[in-house]
Parts: sequence; structure tokens; C-alpha cells
Amino acid sequence: MRRQKKFYAWGYADEDLTADEIGPWEREIAARYGISGFEVTPPPREEEFTLRKPRLDVPTALQPIVRQDRLTRLEHSYGKAGFDATRMFLREVPNPPDAVAFPENEADVARVLEWCDRVGAVAIPYGGGSSVVKGIEPQATFDKVVTISLRHMDRVLEVDTVSEAARIQGGIYGPAIEDALRDSPLTMRHYMQAYRCSTLGGWIATRSGGHYATLYTHIDDFVESLRVVTPQGTLETRRLPGSGAGPSPDRMFIGSEGILGLITEAWVRLRKKPTFRAAASVRFPDFFAGADAVRAITQAGLYPANCRLLEAREAVPGTAWSDTSAVLVLAFESADHPLDAWMKRALEICADYRGRPDASADEENSHRSGAAGAWRNKFIRAPHYSEHAVARGILSSTFETSMTWDRFREFHAAVTAFTQAKIREVTGREGSITCRFTHVYPDGPCLYFTFGGLLDKRRQLEQFMEVLSSCTAETVARGGTTTHHHAVGRFHRPFYDKQRPELFARALRGAKRELDPKGLLNPGVLIDP
Ligand SMILES: Cc1cc2nc3c(=O)[nH]c(=O)nc-3n(C[C@H](O)[C@H](O)[C@H](O)COP(=O)(O)OP(=O)(O)OC[C@H]3O[C@@H](n4cnc5c(N)ncnc54)[C@H](O)[C@@H]3O)c2cc1C
Repeated sequence: MRRQKKFYAWGYADEDLTADEIGPWEREIAARYGISGFEVTPPPREEEFTLRKPRLDVPTALQPIVRQDRLTRLEHSYGKAGFDATRMFLREVPNPPDAVAFPENEADVARVLEWCDRVGAVAIPYGGGSSVVKGIEPQATFDKVVTISLRHMDRVLEVDTVSEAARIQGGIYGPAIEDALRDSPLTMRHYMQAYRCSTLGGWIATRSGGHYATLYTHIDDFVESLRVVTPQGTLETRRLPGSGAGPSPDRMFIGSEGILGLITEAWVRLRKKPTFRAAASVRFPDFFAGADAVRAITQAGLYPANCRLLEAREAVPGTAWSDTSAVLVLAFESADHPLDAWMKRALEICADYRGRPDASADEENSHRSGAAGAWRNKFIRAPHYSEHAVARGILSSTFETSMTWDRFREFHAAVTAFTQAKIREVTGREGSITCRFTHVYPDGPCLYFTFGGLLDKRRQLEQFMEVLSSCTAETVARGGTTTHHHAVGRFHRPFYDKQRPELFARALRGAKRELDPKGLLNPGVLIDP
């Protein structure tokens, strides 16, 4: 039986944080804001929602693959951002999809698109629903909405061990890919944080960023070829290791966020499972010393698999909030050769910038202990805290951007100061902001900001949106990108519109007109129809 996901928050219905996890976290935040405790809103139950009646009748032929029950519609109403959980905790779901289709194959996808065309319904492609940018959310302006979930198209179809690649269906969840490769020497290793509950098609459609901190950061470089079902027919790109034949058709669909077609299959590049590892965590007196070391490491061409620079107070339990030290979680991996020389050189570079390893550098499992281990646990468990923050009126969210090294310090200082001032202005109290690097390039880092504060529960959603939107606008105004790996969706649209060249928007609208002339697919995402 399929394991039921929580319809109102991240994760599965049968899992949650333990009291031992919630207690200390809650007390620490209460102490930080000088309050005795929180009023906790209970999580929403399905029975508390009366949804608008579906505005569509499902044709008999499609009934076996289309559902209109309350839980299914609720589950497909919002993504998994903090503002999505906030609306669920407010019991506000005014625009659920009218129907959710679960095609079994490409012919089904085409039949559902034809149905949408016939009845004038918007079609929203849906993978795991882990969007944090309103990418899968039906809008009040849509007359009728069919969400198309590829959940049943979830198989690894073929593995080419000679070229190290696999043909995989778009609706497969991350763990199922690695499960299917268990007996093979190969692996995909695109461990992004939402890996458990997101899909290959969703990763490609949103240009997701995985756990590789350098080189293979985005899904883009994994994609060898694609199959896409559009309202105008199905297309398949040629499987090639590289090609200079004009603009890449793959790249047109990578990042297309469901507005051009449904990615039903892809050949993706794999690699041999790593057997050699070297991991260390390195402590720096401050974030900027760590940043200088990270720049030098990437510019030296070392390309560690993991190279996450974190503020210690964000990453290491028990660190005082006033502590401004930073931790670099560093790891190299290979299926071919020992990595001691790489690690030795990286640690020499760290030492040049006052970085000291705080776990054994060459110990096989040091990525599971010390500061690196603490970070790893936090990375896996962190998404579960979001619903508990929402239930208590705690502001806890993130935004991510990138900047070249030459402007990084000034940019970091300006965005940090702006966020602090905005939280103070909106909530009337001091908040918190920390930064980490999730991905790094020779020419600059991805800056991932986490911010917090205390909201007025009566104005929780409004205050949350005001802080998040203003900070995102500020990053774009200062020359950053509106998103490094969370996609544009509907949330980032106003900022993306400022960032991208208008002529490019026109070209994208032209492509949309050719592939989806009636504008059925995901209107409002990336461009207006
Ligand atoms: C806790 C958490 C952690 C996250 N961590 C990361 C992270 O580390 N890295 C990262 O990149 N993102 C992260 N995200 C964001 C999100 O997981 C990614 O955007 C992910 O790629 C979405 O995949 P999905 O299958 O859930 O797609 P959905 O959320 O279902 O859809 C996202 C968008 O893609 C479109 N789409 C989905 N499937 C298809 C398809 N087959 N064909 C065409 N269009 C499609 C949808 O229409 C929508 O516009 C995180 C989100 C959460 C909630």
C-alpha cells in the first residue's frame, strides 16, 4: 500500500519529530525571545475542510485514473513551503484542484491533456509536490483545474552499464532510483534535501540542486536526453554525451517548470558507487575566513563532493547564539582512487585561512561524527521542524541566491542587514539570520539564508510573506538571483520578471505558443500565457 504523505506539511503522515527533539528546540527559541512558551495550534485534520465542489465531471474512460476525493484534492492544493503550511494551519484551502489524474503511461498523459483542452481546464504537472514556490498551486483565477501527478510512472526502465546511464520515468521518487540500482555498481547520487518526497521529473523541471557542492550541483548535467508529452505531441531528444548542434533541446525543458510539457522519461548520467571517501569538518574563526578558504579550494580545482560552509550557531547544537565561528563540512569521494592527497591539499588551504580540522581528516566515517555529523542529522531532520514552527507562530524560513566572489562580502553584509531590519520592522522584535554555502563555484557561492523571528499569530501569514518577499526582492535588486535551486514558480515571478531579459521572456512565450497554444499548462509560472 502507498504510504500516505501529510497533506498539510512535509513528510509522511506516520512520522514526526520526537518530544526529545521538539522540547529543547522550543525552549531554546522561547529563551531567545524572552517568552515563557507558545500557544500551539493543533495540526489540521482532513474533516475540518469543506472543499469547493469539483467543477468538472470525469469522462467514463478516464475514471480509473482520476480522483476527486477530499484527501487527494487537499494533498495536491499546496506545496511544502512555510507559507503553505501556514495556510493549512489556518484551514484555508479556497482553490483545490477539481480533479487529480494519475496517468499510468504517456498515452494516458496525452488523453488527460486532450480532456483538459476539451473542457477548458488548466493542467498542472505534479511530481512529489515538494515545490516551495507555489509551482503546483491552483489559482483563484483558474476556471477548472486538473492536476496531473506522474506518481505511477515510477520505474527505472533500462540501465546502460557501459555508458553509465539509465532511462528512468519522470514520476519516480529519489529513494526508488537508488533502490532500483541497488544491485548495480552504479548510482545517481542526486541527494537534494527533499529527495525522499520529490521526483526525477520535478528535479528536471525545476533545475534542482543536489548534495554535490561542486561540479554536478544542478540536475542539468545529469540529463542525457528527455521525453516530453506536450499538448502538441510527444518529443524525444537524442541520447548523446555532448553535442554542439545548436541550442540544446534538453536545456529548453530543464527548468521549464511544467509550462511546456510533462517530462515523462529521461536518460540520466550515473557514476560508480564511491568506495573511497575522505571527510573532515574544519572550524574557522568566522564565516569570511571560511569563505576565503572555500574560494581558494574551488579555484584550486579540487572539487570536493561536499563543501558546505555553515555558521556554527546554525549547524552545531549547543553553540551559543553569540558565537560567530563557522564550520566547513568537507568531503571527497571516488570509486577509483584514494583521496588523501586531495584532502591534504584542501586542509592546507584551510590552514592558510586559520581553519582547523575538528575531526580526523582521513577517517572514513568522520562525515557521520562531530560537526559534520551534526550538520548531516540536521539536514535530514530540519524540514520536519517547519510545521511545528508554524503551529507556534515562529518565523522560520530560508531564501537562497548566488553572487560572484568579487561582490560577495558586500552583498552578504547588505542582505543580512536588510533582513534583520525587515524582521524588526514587521514583527517589532529582533530576529535571527544565518548564512551557509550549499553549492560553490570557482566564481562564487550559493548563499542560503535562514531567518527567524516571532510572529503575531493573528497576522502570521501576512508578516511571513512580507519578510520573505522583501528579502527576495532585495537580493535581486542587489544583483543576485531570485533563486539558486528552488525554482521560480508563482512566488518568485515578480522578482524573476526583473531578473531575466525581456527579449528572453518573449522567446519563451513563443516556445510556449508552439507547444501549448491554448496555454493549458501551469499558467502564471515563469511567464504569463
Ligand atoms: C524540505 C524541502 C527541501 C528542499 N530541498 C531542496 C534541495 O535541496 N534542492 C532543490 O533543488 N530543491 C529543494 N527543494 C525544493 C523542491 O524539492 C524541488 O523544487 C524539487 O525539484 C521539486 O520536485 P517535485 O517532484 O516535488 O516537483 P513538484 O513540487 O511536484 O513540482 C515542481 C514544479 O515542477 C513541475 N513538474 C513536476 N513534475 C514535472 C514533470 N514530470 N514534467 C514537467 N513538469 C513537472 C510542476 O508543475 C512544478 O512547476 C526542497 C523542498 C522542500 C520542501
